[in-house]
Amino acid sequence: MEIQDLSQNIKGFCREAGADLVGFAPVERWVTEGIVPDEFRPQSIWEHTRTVIVMGMGMPLPIVESTPSVLHMELYKTVNIKLDGLAYDTTRYLNRLGHGATFFSRDGYNSLKAFRKWPGAPFGHVMAAKYAGLGNIGLSHCLLTPEFGPRVRLVSVFTALALPPDPLMEKDLCIKCEACAKCCPKDALRVRDDCLIGDYNKPACLEMAEELTKSRTYPCGICTKVCPIGQDRKLYKQPGIVKKYLREKEALAADPQDPAYSSWQHLRRYGAREPR
Ligand code: SF4
Ligand code: SF4
Repeated sequence: MEIQDLSQNIKGFCREAGADLVGFAPVERWVTEGIVPDEFRPQSIWEHTRTVIVMGMGMPLPIVESTPSVLHMELYKTVNIKLDGLAYDTTRYLNRLGHGATFFSRDGYNSLKAFRKWPGAPFGHVMAAKYAGLGNIGLSHCLLTPEFGPRVRLVSVFTALALPPDPLMEKDLCIKCEACAKCCPKDALRVRDDCLIGDYNKPACLEMAEELTKSRTYPCGICTKVCPIGQDRKLYKQPGIVKKYLREKEALAADPQDPAYSSWQHLRRYGAREPR
């Protein structure tokens, strides 16, 4: 089969299996960009890798907006299971076609305690997705995509096939509106004047994750909720929503029953171990 036809068939399979986004990243991009340390690169993890197939699934905005909530936690768990299944099925599909493949699951760390000891997963899907042309990295350190902004979760399949690379996304999607930094409850994101991507205080963000894990309402994701980028916003028609996000903390501190936030507060209150 011609490589272009094979490439289309693989993308078709991934989409049929549930991927909203699919892109091909050639391993050379990790080398030429030189940002990811050598031991975290795909060929260091599986030496036969020629292409990383990166797949993304969107996170519905109305649930993300309720964070931190049990509903958001359940969404996170559901998407994670689906992503791992997608990667497993794609790996076996490639194997059935006669091509070596393996995958890296969507997270890849055992617990937040392990994350504190070794701060990071053995492989990063965000950089893989950037190298697969799915988006680029914003001030918040999240991958921003045209379709979902940062409200997308990712998984990667490594294959020995040299597939036609998808072009890198040249235009920055981040508009540096600073909503992510302003709304971060731990002040973990700091704007930089000299570059688009902000300073990221990983221990502070981890502290938030630990607090939310104790109350079983993880992950935080406020920086993904408030980002105005993404065509998914068109589905929900929310004029003035960023202003609403920006005043949320202050408004709820003054009145936890503020009617403007009642639906999110309802989802946070019921079913939670420590109702808000
Ligand atoms: S996940 Fe939460 S704590 Fe971490 S950077 Fe984003 S908003 Fe801040
Ligand atoms: S919220 Fe604004 S500054 Fe933050 S990543 Fe999104 S567009 Fe960039």
